[in-house]
Amino acid sequence: MSESPITVTYPDVVLVTGAARGMGANHSRALAARGVHVCVADIIDTAEIVAEIRSAGGSASEYRLDVADPAAWSRTIDGIRSGPGALGGLINNAGISRRLEFMDTPDDIWEQTMRINLFGPFYGIKAAAPLMRDGGGGSIVNISSIAGRIGYFSPAYSSSKWGLTGLSKSAAGNLAEWGIRVNSVHPGLVGTDLVRGADGFVASSLRSIPAGRMGTVDEITDAVLFLLSDRSGYITGSEVTVDGGLTSNGLYHRVLADAEGQPA
Ligand code: NAD
Repeated sequence: MSESPITVTYPDVVLVTGAARGMGANHSRALAARGVHVCVADIIDTAEIVAEIRSAGGSASEYRLDVADPAAWSRTIDGIRSGPGALGGLINNAGISRRLEFMDTPDDIWEQTMRINLFGPFYGIKAAAPLMRDGGGGSIVNISSIAGRIGYFSPAYSSSKWGLTGLSKSAAGNLAEWGIRVNSVHPGLVGTDLVRGADGFVASSLRSIPAGRMGTVDEITDAVLFLLSDRSGYITGSEVTVDGGLTSNGLYHRVLADAEGQPA
């Protein structure tokens, strides 16, 4: 393989929500390794990931943030404004998933899922965009899901992620005049805490994934890094699906596998 002469530039400061663990922690590590100051935010303690970034020579600051609380967003953005300064990127990554079918979904789970997965990014974009504008613009990446592209059996999760797809497109139009791009990333199945304990669900899902495996956190991070960087400068309002072919070809992948050896 030949070496790439292409240079990639990232924002100086990026805020990542849900960064204490899982994919958010991985995005944070990867950004810090590229010289970005990472504002690590989560509802739980983030000391571990921040210590890890610093001991690897990176730069990070910590924010205790419940994304469903608009006042907490104001405090976080005020802290960034008076701390690391010019914010050039926001990854709305925090999310929860309860795999409950329609009639099994209690009202409070519906509401909590909406508040975290959809209201959270709305509050976040509203709070962060003026600071990004003041710094000359930037890139917002909303972590949706394949559940925000197809009919998914869990109404709370699917509706919140479809809502996030729409929020991304709407914000992309509104914020273009401030030089802010907004895109959504749609991971397929990735082995984090979010799918822990769902072994039967995962095993069965694999039969519909043409790539034949779950995605890795690094594969999702690569898409996020691209959207944050100057290499995607003309991409806004787009959906980037990273799912091993599940949404585009999953149905017939499974149909053909099931039909193998049976008369046509
Ligand atoms: P995870 O459960 O490993 O991590 C989620 C993080 O969000 C945790 O650190 C948690 O503390 C934080 N969080 C939860 N509620 C919060 C709140 N109210 N405020 C701030 N932080 C909060 O999950 P993950 O797999 O890393 O998921 C990251 C994102 O990717 C989520 O939006 C999820 O919906 C999405 N996603 C995951 C998968 C998958 O297969 N793992 C697939 C598609 C989409």
